[in-house]
Amino acid sequence: MFLGCVTSPEGRHRKNVKYLVHDLKPFEEHIRRLFELAAGCLSQEAEAEAESKQSTDASDESRCDPTSALFQHKTPVPMMGRQTYRMWKATLELSTGFVFKSNLLDKPKTLHFFPLEHFPPSVTSGFQVQGYDHLLQYLVHFLQVYFPNLEVILEPLHDVNTDLELISRYHSKTNKKQFLVTDLYAKLHKLTGTQKKDFILGFTWTDLYPKEELNFVLGEASFQHRCAVLSFGRYEPLSYEARDGGCMMEDVDAENENEEESIVVDGDLLWKLLRVATHETSHLFGLNHCVFFECSMNESKSVSEALAQPLVLCPVCLRKMQRFLKFDVLARYRGLLGTCQTLQDAYPSDGLAKTIDWLQRCIEFLS
Ligand SMILES: [Zn+2]
Ligand SMILES: [Zn+2]
Repeated sequence: MFLGCVTSPEGRHRKNVKYLVHDLKPFEEHIRRLFELAAGCLSQEAEAEAESKQSTDASDESRCDPTSALFQHKTPVPMMGRQTYRMWKATLELSTGFVFKSNLLDKPKTLHFFPLEHFPPSVTSGFQVQGYDHLLQYLVHFLQVYFPNLEVILEPLHDVNTDLELISRYHSKTNKKQFLVTDLYAKLHKLTGTQKKDFILGFTWTDLYPKEELNFVLGEASFQHRCAVLSFGRYEPLSYEARDGGCMMEDVDAENENEEESIVVDGDLLWKLLRVATHETSHLFGLNHCVFFECSMNESKSVSEALAQPLVLCPVCLRKMQRFLKFDVLARYRGLLGTCQTLQDAYPSDGLAKTIDWLQRCIEFLS
């Protein structure tokens, strides 16, 4: 019998858990406790916090203490843009139709990682992390650890510069070539001869733009097309703006002639690639931008914003990903921790250091 009233703290907590991450019966107690943290973003404390923030314009100090809380919720969580676990699941079922839903949710899944252009050997082969001496092979390895039970295949080069019908432009400020990303992801299955049921992650050396009136995008994914594309993001127009002290961009092409040669694989570059690759791949599995917590699936309006966001998923997004790939939550975190530590030894970055700290705290919470 259901005794808890929804206005009591316990009843309210139970209702919020159900609303955000749905039924947790299939999970063991310690995993359930992790998912239940989702309710923190809609708790009475969170509402009181949001109210005090509104009335006093309080600074970020009023939010959860980052040294103790595993997940920092948004304050307040906006009504718009919420994608709960059930909403996500309904999207998957509607997109494939009732007959095919089991194919998407319960069948094995494959992601084809396609290099879409030649990358300079200094960038790809100059790379060295225990067991890996090629950047692209390493990226595929990392995705495999981040997305357990997804088969990730490194495909041979498919040079899209030979596909003459693809739409590109030269950016008016940087004078650098950019591919129209929406055109790429709509055509890549056909161009590469990949089965429609499989997912594609394409990787370009050339920059990308999302639509004519917009400058630049590091990556973009289409759930509908089952295809995502990311780029090295070498010529973000905003970086030229910053270099000019915040003034509007002027003609800067003369000083960038040797930009390609000056690219070095360091911790910051790897952090950027891993952040974007994992975020875009998660979109392929139907995850929308997250408005509940600080989360890998937060929307970003600039590269710097994307880099400041976490590599890990909040409990709501993790619930979706776990259902999609059916991995062991704790084993995944342990695998990620080992992989991140090995990478940090060779190519340190602040983002990875924070991720390692978080993974250690989370594993402790689950153990
Ligand atoms: Zn996104
Ligand atoms: Zn999230």
